[in-house]
Amino acid sequence: MNRFAIFDLDDTLVDSSGAVDRWFIELTEQRNLGAAGLEFLRAEQQRPVSPQESFQAIIDQFGFTESPDELRSIFLDRVPRLSRTFDGVLDSLRELRARGWRTALLTNGTEVDQQPKMRDGLGDLFDVVCFADDEPMRKPDPEIFRLVADRAGTGLDGAWMIGDSLEHDIAGGAAVGMSTIWVSGGRPLQDGGLIPGQVVSSVAEVFPLLHAAR
Ligand SMILES: [Mg+2]
Repeated sequence: MNRFAIFDLDDTLVDSSGAVDRWFIELTEQRNLGAAGLEFLRAEQQRPVSPQESFQAIIDQFGFTESPDELRSIFLDRVPRLSRTFDGVLDSLRELRARGWRTALLTNGTEVDQQPKMRDGLGDLFDVVCFADDEPMRKPDPEIFRLVADRAGTGLDGAWMIGDSLEHDIAGGAAVGMSTIWVSGGRPLQDGGLIPGQVVSSVAEVFPLLHAAR
């Protein structure tokens, strides 16, 4: 066992999806869109289309004067500020480090988008913080995991990868020999799909597993 854990950020340590919903509520209040308007925004988020198409649909629906790019700028400015660190994460990371663990943050988000989400000293609780825009590769590329371990002064053998994305975090970590914990948020696993090492519904359940690991 290697006391080294790499964490994803969005929907693993901070509730980024919840932040999108809080932005919808904010927009609904600011522009008097009403309950039906909020319902439209929530439905739009579920539609499998590009962000550009989605912003255009919202503008058309409500007659906003912004262009899709301008609405996207508002979204990118507000959503990180509306995100919250999940309960207990800061204390749990502090305790993990006090017990001799090395910790890293590895996100496919860009520094400018992710920094505003890392409030209350979250960023100080990692030996290494790695944003996608600073490096030539992203999760699940094996090289990005190796680079983070190198910077932490350790290896990946027996180390831990924790995240909510089966593709980026769990498949990526497993491919380089890490133990994996999938933060499911209550989502079921697909039949015949990838099997994570362990499954928890929220990040609070991750830390007892790490403390118990041998
Ligand atoms: Mg994530």
